Amino acid sequence: MYAKRLDNLPPYLFAQIDKLKAEKRAEGVDIIDFGVGDPDLPTPSHIVDSLCEAARDSATHHYPDYTGMLEYREAVASWYKSRFGVDLDPKTEVLALIGSKEGIAHVPEAFVNPGEYVLVPDPGYPVYKTSTLFAEGKVWEMPLTGENDFIPDLDAIPSDVLKTASLMFLGYPNNPTAATAPLSFFSEVVEFARENDIVVVHDNAYSEITFDGYKAPSFLQADGAKEVGIEMHSLSKTYNMTGWRIGMAAGGEELISGLGRVKTNVDSGAFDAIQRAAITALTSSQQCVADACKVYQERRDILVSGLKDLGFDVTAPKATFYVWMKVPDSMSFTQKMLNEAGIVVTPGTGFGRSGDGYVRFAITRNVDRINEALERMRRIDF
Ligand SMILES: *Cc1c(COP(=O)(O)O)cnc(C)c1O
Repeated sequence: MYAKRLDNLPPYLFAQIDKLKAEKRAEGVDIIDFGVGDPDLPTPSHIVDSLCEAARDSATHHYPDYTGMLEYREAVASWYKSRFGVDLDPKTEVLALIGSKEGIAHVPEAFVNPGEYVLVPDPGYPVYKTSTLFAEGKVWEMPLTGENDFIPDLDAIPSDVLKTASLMFLGYPNNPTAATAPLSFFSEVVEFARENDIVVVHDNAYSEITFDGYKAPSFLQADGAKEVGIEMHSLSKTYNMTGWRIGMAAGGEELISGLGRVKTNVDSGAFDAIQRAAITALTSSQQCVADACKVYQERRDILVSGLKDLGFDVTAPKATFYVWMKVPDSMSFTQKMLNEAGIVVTPGTGFGRSGDGYVRFAITRNVDRINEALERMRRIDF
């Protein structure tokens, strides 16, 4: 009944965990869920107000422009200028997305021919692999390991792979490892992409969720980046807007136009009222972002120091709302946490084979729940 491309998808480990979680809940267990990468904090009220007002204006009730409202693309361009010092032409170098997942899912359709390689970080956001498979490309895994600070070793990619590689996915600050990458790495990637004629897709969903004064760069800050790459960005994590489905792609005109041609044939753009609220988010005071980072930072500190006290090998991340922790075996640790403490974490293997030996905590739960989880963990014999 199903097409081969569905059968070819990797097994969806999260569905298995969801099932176990539902079973425990049915038994009456009070589950503490660090599994989901979805902010528990609400969207700031000035953004919600802006949506309500826009939704009442019937001008927003029609088919949106495929590329996004020009005002939205202008707001994105000025945000990129003030935040990263990157110049973008809002007319040709910015595209509205229905969440950045949508852009990531569609981008291989524009640049990958069947049988060509796509270089994918492993562990990584699962959509990099599935979008490659949907476009009938071949996945080449670039291992992210503790030894290389979770940054891929570009020299380790075999030359016969590079000959037929057409696209590379990257994302820093990284999900799931919470690693960051310096701008100098992005410059190396630009050089590498030029030499090997590869389109780079940089996924920057967490650039604003940073701690201890760290400021994450944009891939587009690297010299020449616009000619070889696209950056996918999103309001989801920055403004607690995961449910709103609004993001943006930014990059050189040719690349943006390639992605735009796919989208024109697939979707009809993001709801104008949501774009107007997104303009409010990008152009108003960014105090709400700083406030959210403060909340995550406090949670990070409590969780990381508690885990260290329990004897675990874990470091405090500079960015993202994830804590990536070393464990002897991802799956058995995950099961033990769920069975003996009612705590959900995500096994690293859910993000690819090089994720084995790690689990991911999403710190999208409040301090009381984090303390409760640590208390429960103290009673487990690991
Ligand atoms: C959350 C996330 C996204 C997608 O977010 P959208 O809600 O689709 O904008 C993309 N990449 C990574 C790594 C993420 O964690």
